[in-house]
Amino acid sequence: MAASYVVVAMGVRVTPNPRRYPVEPLAAAMGLTVHGALARLSVSGSTQADYRSRGVTYRVADRLAVRAGFHPAEVWPESTEHEIDAISLTCDECETRFIPKARARPDVRFCSKRCNKRFHYRKRYAEAIGERERARSRQFYAENTEYERAQARRRYHANKGAA
Ligand SMILES: [Zn+2]
Repeated sequence: MAASYVVVAMGVRVTPNPRRYPVEPLAAAMGLTVHGALARLSVSGSTQADYRSRGVTYRVADRLAVRAGFHPAEVWPESTEHEIDAISLTCDECETRFIPKARARPDVRFCSKRCNKRFHYRKRYAEAIGERERARSRQFYAENTEYERAQARRRYHANKGAA
C-alpha cells in the first residue's frame, strides 16, 4: 500500500483523489497487451471493460500495480502529486498547502501553532480596537453632553440674575 492512506486512516478530513488512471501504462510496464495484462491480474468481463473504458481509481490502480509487482508511482508517476494534493489542506492564516499531522483534529485549519496563534491574536486585537473606539466615543459624548448641560445651566442662572 502507498503511504498516503495513513492520514485517511487517522480520520483527518480529506477530499479523496477523484482522478481515474488509464490501464495502458500498467500493461506497458508488464510488457503485455491491455487485455493480456488485466487477464493476468484476474480482471475479466464487465470489470475489465469498465477499467479499459473509464480507467481506474487510485485505490484500484494501487492494488493492480502491487499485484503486478510494481509501486503505483512507478506506473503512474503523476499519481503521487495527486494523492499529496488530495490529503493537503490550505492554512487559514498563511494560505500554504500542508499535510495535517497524524491524529490531528478533524477540523484542523492551520499549518502550525504559530499560524493558529497569529490568526487568533489578530482577531482579538481587532476586537480590542473596536472596544477602544466605542469607549472613546462614549467618553466624547459624555463630556460634550455634560458641556451642553453646563452651558444651559450657566445661561439659566445668568438670565435669572439679570431679571
Ligand atoms: Zn500557516
